[in-house]
Amino acid sequence: MKTVRLKPGRERALLHRHPWVFDSGIARGGADAGETVRVEAHDGAFLAWAAYSPASAIRLRAWSFDEAERIDRAFFERRIAAAVAARAALAIDSDGVRLVHAEADGLPALVVDRYGDTLVAQFGAAGVERWRETVADALLGATGCTRLYERSDAAVRQLEGLAERRGWLRQADEDAGGTALTIREHGWRLTLDVAQGHKTGYYLDQRDNRARFATLVRRHGARRVLNCFSYTGGFSIAALAGGAREVTSVDSSGPALAHVAEHVRLNGFDPAASRTVEADVNRHLREQLAAGERYDAIVLDPPKFAPTAASAERAARAYKDINRLALQLLVPGGLLLTFSCSGGIPPDLFHKIVAGAGMDAGVDAAILERLQAAPDHAASLFFPEGDYLKGLVLRRR
Ligand code: SAH
Repeated sequence: MKTVRLKPGRERALLHRHPWVFDSGIARGGADAGETVRVEAHDGAFLAWAAYSPASAIRLRAWSFDEAERIDRAFFERRIAAAVAARAALAIDSDGVRLVHAEADGLPALVVDRYGDTLVAQFGAAGVERWRETVADALLGATGCTRLYERSDAAVRQLEGLAERRGWLRQADEDAGGTALTIREHGWRLTLDVAQGHKTGYYLDQRDNRARFATLVRRHGARRVLNCFSYTGGFSIAALAGGAREVTSVDSSGPALAHVAEHVRLNGFDPAASRTVEADVNRHLREQLAAGERYDAIVLDPPKFAPTAASAERAARAYKDINRLALQLLVPGGLLLTFSCSGGIPPDLFHKIVAGAGMDAGVDAAILERLQAAPDHAASLFFPEGDYLKGLVLRRR
């Protein structure tokens, strides 16, 4: 077993059960890509068993803080079984569920989503990459699923020096079916494609917020709704389910928008009530404002404007702009559901940005609710970076 020794003072993160060590914290030692190493403090004290990533600034990702634990097949079977069991207790009203949420489930860089009887996995670092076959077997064993699709095509793989990979990793037989699936979320039927869609196919982290939106639309009697960054229209279906009469879905992705009409039809809503606009949201909001349009409810669910804390300042301006425009487009009493999924923007900063947007717009609003990711995406107390999604429900005064 190879050993990596940290510089004095750099054992703090691991002692606090935070699983990352950056390259700058290492005094000596190394290993092959993904190899398990013993991590020790400058005085030789055991800190963790970790996967070594030679190409990444995150040089070590801890598997275990228990010196007696072995990182072997049984370890992955235990961790995966525990992650799957934890979801069973959440009573999730969908057959689309995040089963493994990486660091938060003690499995750094491994994401696994389940869509019905199909699993989709992302291997995001050298450590899990090395255990890929073991992980695949353990996932099938823990779930009883026979289909596992791999979406190891996230940009983070480049930082690890890993090539992109996508395709079936496990399949019952060659005719077991395609990558286009239908799931049921809150009783709605939604389609996705695990090979073509964003992430693993769908934004499962917004599941509960979509249900909440349906309730809010109904309770406030919102009739005219604008769903910005709609992807395949999850919040649009929620709006229609809540009784909205006219819903516009705006996204820059044509293939994503192509699902919206299908979702309206599949769920038995009036096709005339739904409209899609393939456009840049910022630009579309400006045009709507210039045209004097007004909405009863608006959703803003942009992509990660600030992937890191370093890009937070530029991202803050982008968030502020769209929030200012959205607040101006609301009728008095109108609702704004506004989100940020940027890890680099903590909730208090997001709140300040939105307050600044209200100030610039000359629009006051009541903060009705604070939103977060659905509980199958729960962060760990020891890994606050996992707590990336935050949202506010505002009611324009
Ligand atoms: N609300 C969605 C998820 C949104 S993800 C849901 O519940 O499923 C963010 C979306 O923003 C993606 O679909 C992406 O295509 C889109 N997007 C990114 N940049 C954009 C831009 N500048 N203008 C419009 N859409 C954009």
